Amino acid sequence: MIGLMQDRPLGLPHIFHRAETLFADKMIVTATASGEQRATYGECFERVRKLAAALDRLQVPADARVGTLCWNTQTHLELYFAVPCSGRVLHTINIRLFPDQLAFVVADAHDDVVFVERSLVPALWQVADRIPSVRHIVVIDDGSDEEVPDDPRLMDYETLLATGPAHTGRFVVDDENSAATLCYTSGTTGDPKGVLYSHRSTALHSLASLASDVLAIGERDCVQPVVPMFHVNAWGLPYTSVLAGADIVLPGTQTAPDELLAQIENHRVSMTAGVPTIWMGALPLLHKHDLSSLRMVLCGGAAVPQSLSEGWRAAIGLPITQAWGMTETSPICTIATLRREHESLADEQRARVRATQGRPVPLFDLRLVDPETGAEQPWDGSAAGELQASGPWIAAGYLNGSGQSAFTVDGWLRTGDIATVDPSGYLSLVDRTKDLVKSGGEWISSVALENHIMAHVAVVEAAVVAKPDPRWSERPVAFVVAREDAQITADDVLEHLRPLVPKWWLPDEVHFIEALPKTGTGKFAKRMLRARFDTGAVE
Ligand code: ADP
Repeated sequence: MIGLMQDRPLGLPHIFHRAETLFADKMIVTATASGEQRATYGECFERVRKLAAALDRLQVPADARVGTLCWNTQTHLELYFAVPCSGRVLHTINIRLFPDQLAFVVADAHDDVVFVERSLVPALWQVADRIPSVRHIVVIDDGSDEEVPDDPRLMDYETLLATGPAHTGRFVVDDENSAATLCYTSGTTGDPKGVLYSHRSTALHSLASLASDVLAIGERDCVQPVVPMFHVNAWGLPYTSVLAGADIVLPGTQTAPDELLAQIENHRVSMTAGVPTIWMGALPLLHKHDLSSLRMVLCGGAAVPQSLSEGWRAAIGLPITQAWGMTETSPICTIATLRREHESLADEQRARVRATQGRPVPLFDLRLVDPETGAEQPWDGSAAGELQASGPWIAAGYLNGSGQSAFTVDGWLRTGDIATVDPSGYLSLVDRTKDLVKSGGEWISSVALENHIMAHVAVVEAAVVAKPDPRWSERPVAFVVAREDAQITADDVLEHLRPLVPKWWLPDEVHFIEALPKTGTGKFAKRMLRARFDTGAVE
């Protein structure tokens, strides 16, 4: 028997029109090199309507991909709504891609138009003659003085908006399963693959994010997405914030730790989100700012060392909230908010709960599967298995049919992460399959070693990778960035680890380097560290 309820498409038009009606007075602030750009939702949304009409004038077809090379800015937010609400697909492009990858993703997506902020024109111009699908390139003035080349495809964003009427009436997307946005995996595990989010998946992900045991974002919040809008829709925060009617504060190009903290202080930001490297960089500066407005510092994309979260708690009284997800999962799937039973625990035990990747959010399912036998593993806090994901905002495939091996026969996503889950449902990532060190047939968790090393007072950052070994097949090697003017030797690192891990986990080598190479999304670029072994840069 079919239920007798109205069948209405879930999607971004509803989020847009609701906010247009209810929250026209709420603020969107973008930091710029010379100050700030400010607009109300109402002013911004009028520009969204103009932009949607401009896409019609440019004859951008339905479903066509519209690329963006933009920072976290109001203009990017305008594109976030105008493109999908008018029936096209927003393709956010990672501004830090190497030219070959950039040309690859634009070609794979078959972008029809690309919107680029002026400071990023040089990045796009490296591939300008290798993107034949692109008919128009729209340059957004972000105050930079980068030269704009003479090219017939080019036009100016403000001129485009000014030269015609705005879209009137409601936006309509009839099929909630139609594509809304597109983001490529960052390629740490191979060629970038296109993940195509739908209106339905984005609406449900936004709704789940609002839940009180998830992000609890409401109209009273002021949200600062530091995590880039070019990667996984800034963890959905622009859509979630507009759904809630929260004020939005965007860092634009001003992403140095001091600038981010000043923005939090000046705008009384209540909720912010970024990858661990961002919050590590901010840690020594916390005492310089009044951060009392913060209620949540969200962090994910890579393991959040317990020492980092506790460092924040010691400095401002607020620990970091860890979440887990990936490009393929929209991304929020688990979050380490505490249960009532944790309230009475000692600080150290609560810190340990926060150091997990957290428990599944509503509507999301996970399971652990033994990679060798295929048997589902119990949630007992010790049995490890490959983490598999299922839910309405989890990818069912990649654009153009690549990477089918990432999906099981019963349609679950194989995440490539190895994890345990405790009886209360808290997930702990042991490692990524490809980052595990397999020594003498046993696993060594690079993440656990890194966390322990980074807890040393003289260490800023550390990454552990596998080095090929004739006897054990692989052995762990640590790369460590020491705190400026701190005295620390390889033996100190090993002595520090000795009581914390089994003896055979101790790294064979500890190398001190000035900085760890990072990926375009701020994670440790372990592939580049491993490449040092191949090139002989590390003996
Ligand atoms: P890529 O897979 O290209 O690195 P993603 O941004 O999709 O790009 O990264 C997803 C991966 O990041 C996850 O599979 C996981 O390994 C890692 N990750 C995400 N959040 C966390 C977290 N809280 N702790 C540990 N690892 C995390």
